Amino acid sequence: MSTAPKKPAPCPICGRPAEAAFKPFCSARCADVDLGRWLSDRYVIPAEDEDQIDPPPERAE
Ligand SMILES: [Zn+2]
Repeated sequence: MSTAPKKPAPCPICGRPAEAAFKPFCSARCADVDLGRWLSDRYVIPAEDEDQIDPPPERAE
């Protein structure tokens, strides 16, 4: 018999039991999904418009 000392919190992404290696997620994939959500929520991913790069209006004279 094996006694679980603590009941692992479920993965916030898929609800499966979290793995210690990927806490609080169950896998690297779910951690990546959460990171992607977090990033897209905080930062606006820049479009690939590298043609519109304005140089800083600074002139060192
Ligand atoms: Zn998961």
